[in-house]
Amino acid sequence: MSSPIEKLQKFLKLEVERGYDNRAVVGGLDKILPNWENEARSLKLNENLIQTVIQRLNAYQHLDTSQRAATLQELFQMLQSIQETSRQPTSSQFQPRQQLSAGRSDDSTLSAHSAAKQSKNISIERQKRSNKISDLRPSKQTSEAGLNAPLTVLPGIGQRNSQILHELGLNNLGDLLYFFPRRYDDYSQLKPINRVQYGEELTIIATVQSLSTRPVRGGQLQITEAVVTDGSGFIRLTWFNKPWIEKNLHHGDQIVFSGKVDMYLGRLVMNDPEWEHIEQQHLHTNRIVPVYPLTSHITQRQLRRIMYQTVTFWAPRVTEYLPESTRQSVGLVDLSTALLQVHFPDSSENLAAARERLAFDEIFLMQLGVLREKQAWQSAQSEIYDSPEDWLNQQISRIPFNLTQAQQKVLQEVRCDLASGHPMNRLLQGDVGSGKTVIAALGIAIVARNGAQSALMAPTSILAEQHYRNLLNLLTGDHGDIPSILTPEQIALLIGDTPEPEKQSIRQGLSDGSIKLVIGTHALIEDPVEFQHLQLAVVDEQHRFGVAQRSALRVKGKNPHLLVMTATPIPRSLALTIYGDLDLSVMDELPPGRQPIETHVVLPLERERIYQLIRSEIRAGHQVFIIYPFIEKGDRDEAMAAVEEHDRLQKEIFPQFKLGLLHGRMRPSEKDQVMKDFRDGIFQVLVSTSVVEVGVDVPNATVMLVEGANRFGLAQLHQFRGRVGRGQDKAYCILIPETEDAIENERLAAMEETNDGFVLAERDLDQRGPGSFLGTRQSGFAELKMANLTDIHLIEKARLQARKFFELDPDFRNPEHANLATMMARFWGNGRGDIS
Ligand code: ADP
Ligand code: MG
Repeated sequence: MSSPIEKLQKFLKLEVERGYDNRAVVGGLDKILPNWENEARSLKLNENLIQTVIQRLNAYQHLDTSQRAATLQELFQMLQSIQETSRQPTSSQFQPRQQLSAGRSDDSTLSAHSAAKQSKNISIERQKRSNKISDLRPSKQTSEAGLNAPLTVLPGIGQRNSQILHELGLNNLGDLLYFFPRRYDDYSQLKPINRVQYGEELTIIATVQSLSTRPVRGGQLQITEAVVTDGSGFIRLTWFNKPWIEKNLHHGDQIVFSGKVDMYLGRLVMNDPEWEHIEQQHLHTNRIVPVYPLTSHITQRQLRRIMYQTVTFWAPRVTEYLPESTRQSVGLVDLSTALLQVHFPDSSENLAAARERLAFDEIFLMQLGVLREKQAWQSAQSEIYDSPEDWLNQQISRIPFNLTQAQQKVLQEVRCDLASGHPMNRLLQGDVGSGKTVIAALGIAIVARNGAQSALMAPTSILAEQHYRNLLNLLTGDHGDIPSILTPEQIALLIGDTPEPEKQSIRQGLSDGSIKLVIGTHALIEDPVEFQHLQLAVVDEQHRFGVAQRSALRVKGKNPHLLVMTATPIPRSLALTIYGDLDLSVMDELPPGRQPIETHVVLPLERERIYQLIRSEIRAGHQVFIIYPFIEKGDRDEAMAAVEEHDRLQKEIFPQFKLGLLHGRMRPSEKDQVMKDFRDGIFQVLVSTSVVEVGVDVPNATVMLVEGANRFGLAQLHQFRGRVGRGQDKAYCILIPETEDAIENERLAAMEETNDGFVLAERDLDQRGPGSFLGTRQSGFAELKMANLTDIHLIEKARLQARKFFELDPDFRNPEHANLATMMARFWGNGRGDIS
């Protein structure tokens, strides 16, 4: 049997041979799609590939011959590149020069043939393997910039340089064009020497008068000094440990110098200025100069040069993909201009326009994807789960407390979803302690009432156990004359530590339907668990799980209802942007009677007082968390880190108590053990990094001390605070910043002022940007390089345009939108799976 890839290649080849008349398949190429898509999905081929094939073949009938040729060539190259990647992609195996230089015209037939021929005998196995590679980026090839072209095609980049660039995550031309400067030095101001002032960043043009290098500090440092003049005055320039400068500058040379004007012994000087000969193309001086993130193996000058070569040649050749109407109505510059200007801006106005365009694109693409997902699930059918009023009220009366207003409201929302006939897809945001578990429990009860199964997934086994105990309490046991919905035997806990025989019997119970509710960790999706009739999937603390994991759970049932719960308060603008595919419920109310946690920002000098507080709390039988921003000191000499501090605290400060240590580099089983020991009171103090953030319940803990508090976002500090004050006793949250810097610490004062997670989240978003909620790396927010999610204005514009576009052409059928479809695949192909 041939694979979907081979089949597709066969049809495309036939189509090429027929001269693009769209009759290789009766009725048109798009007629193969329904079957093909099914097969491709069942083999789990790369989703981008599938999407791109669908979009291209749907649009194919509307294209003229040369556009058709280009489309087929693009598809061939995509299929081929999948196969290439699976054969260990050393760059020598690419045929870059050919790809890049091939004209747009009829070469396509030729390479299409050879591509088809080359890839004929690739086995399915290999395709399966290769499709795991998520980073497949279809793109416009040939005469337009081949964004997938490996870096070695660029002049001046050989194996060595491409390896260095690889360290920066730069693997192809597209990566390079979208590798934006970290910041800019504005040296566009040119001044005569007699008018420069202390503190200015500027450029001078001057002649070298004298030049010398001498050792200082016993030969540890070398200082190169030059005195230069432009006729209006003299200025002294110095470089540290760059003796080669002396060989490059000569007496009498006319040089452009850029840098910051400093003061030394009462005279103006420039330290470590950039320089270029006056007759050179100015990249490092005399302009707004881009400053890129670096690795240790490449200098700013080298990278800037590479970027300049790349950008000036390729940016004008990239394909515009935004529809003209969209671009016009928002007033955005075209893509080529934006890419040129963002790297080498001619003026700060042009830079701003470039940034706006690129930021717009990110949000626009993100919105289109979100709309697409939303449409997909809204059009799906699901089973209906009714919950009669009387019955529901009985269930509620089984709960040992009264529901808050917010809980009642969200319960109604969940109830409507379950009865709607479409899959629920709801994000429930509720501050720490707002009582989300009860909502999950009632949803589970509604589904169980009709005999169907539910699953609840938590990020750690200790959390899963906690849920297991709570749900057993809430869902089983008779209360007076109201019978319970489930028996304890119908509820199972499946975690990594579950002994194998028990796992087996749980799997058995799930597949024969005798178990109605399973609570677990990743084990739920990793193990070969099958459900008889999974109808409700609940995911707790969702920002620890990726979209991929969410959907891995979801596919265990047939269009099951999905409830995602998070304690991370996400401001509305951000939620609409990144979770727009989910319906949003907010629980903004805590159950009555909670004691507010007493929060204090305390300066480092007063630490001893806090240690006293800790001692007296422990003597009163309580427990304490101490959080540090880093695991080990490493190269951050100034910072306090968990491992070293645990040692110091245990030996010098609290020798009479037992201190546990928890950090992210420990194995999951070790972490769980430490958490369990802390919960069971074996440790009085838990020294930890931020891994402790996720919702674990230790009611006996009354002090949360955060060291290096200035390094955390407010939303995250609020999560830490939520770890204490869960019992009856008064609780404290103490924040110790690293310095006494009043301005920095003012930010922390917000923690003293409010206990409202949403207020803190909004402030965080203002001050630190979206990374502070989502932890830039894990979240996949690398995708948003340019967009600032606090820019509500821009977000609104992009959302509006995305909605307009989506109403017109949701499937990208219009051939004019083919480029946008390609860009979508590229954008969504990278790491989006990590976002939620
Ligand atoms: P979270 O939203 O952080 O997951 P939980 O569901 O763990 O919160 O609830 C926190 C605590 O509050 C639990 O001990 C729970 O029993 C209790 N709780 C939940 N809802 C209420 C309520 N309406 N009144 C009183 N206590 C409640
Ligand atoms: Mg919880």
